[in-house]
Amino acid sequence: MQVQKPYRILLYYKYTPLENYEEYAAEHLQFCKENGLKGRIIIAPEGINGTVSGTVEQTDAYMEYVRKDPRFADMWFKIDESEEHAFKKMFVRAKKELVTWRLENDVDPNEKTGHYLSPKEFYEMMQQEDVVILDGRNYYEYDLGHFRGAIRPEVDSSREFPEWIAENMSQFKDKKVLTYCTGGIRCEKLTGVLLDQGFENVYQLHGGIVTYGKDPEVKGRLWDGKCYVFDERISVPINHTEEDVVIGRCHYCGTVEDRYVNCANPFCNKQHFCCTECEQKFKRSCSDECREHPRNRFVEEEEKAKLQAAGANA
Ligand SMILES: [Zn+2]
Ligand SMILES: [Zn+2]
Repeated sequence: MQVQKPYRILLYYKYTPLENYEEYAAEHLQFCKENGLKGRIIIAPEGINGTVSGTVEQTDAYMEYVRKDPRFADMWFKIDESEEHAFKKMFVRAKKELVTWRLENDVDPNEKTGHYLSPKEFYEMMQQEDVVILDGRNYYEYDLGHFRGAIRPEVDSSREFPEWIAENMSQFKDKKVLTYCTGGIRCEKLTGVLLDQGFENVYQLHGGIVTYGKDPEVKGRLWDGKCYVFDERISVPINHTEEDVVIGRCHYCGTVEDRYVNCANPFCNKQHFCCTECEQKFKRSCSDECREHPRNRFVEEEEKAKLQAAGANA
């Protein structure tokens, strides 16, 4: 039997009307701080969306606290084990929306959303002929890993989806459309958007990619690469079969690489794939402009290291 790791990372959301959401956010933050949790939680009039890390005891206490509230009694927590915290701080933000869509006609997932598919159903349906798979995330998440054959949306925020779908997906109106995202929350409204645009057969992966990767039967099959996550791990493996492959490519030299770095220009910070050789050569910068930026952190780190080395030799 596997030994349980000392920490856990929870991922969860629920669309349900919350009155006094700002007060609830303040109370929530207090509980999290007092109990040593770290992470990011959004609380909005339409519900809650969060990811937190803590010890087994801390996360148990948190789940109990959340489910004690009748509005969240049936909350589904996706749990990953971990050796340590996955965040440095604790944020609870009161916002207007859980995911920033700013839809002209908002959709309530409790009234209109795509059919939910279990990992096994999703796996089977992906292989049918009259199906298109749409990645419900941003292009940079797609580039780290995605379901085989999925459409790569050229968007870098959910807000851009409605227009992008209208411009790029109309030829698929008579197909079954399968969507997926990290933990499921983005598909709740994305499938509503598709339904509003006249797609009739719309399905979503229930529990998202992270749930798919844990399914004992499917074992992450037909997933290529890794799954981008919004915590310090950056990515997690999904495909647990011998088919596991790396699909990232170094931004500079094009070799197979799924190592992510942030651009060294502190005003850019763009995440990109970069091999260790190119990191040195291109000073971990995504462009010439960033490389030559006076505040380039890679250059600063190099100078610091040189000074330290000089000091040690003196
Ligand atoms: Zn390279
Ligand atoms: Zn840059």
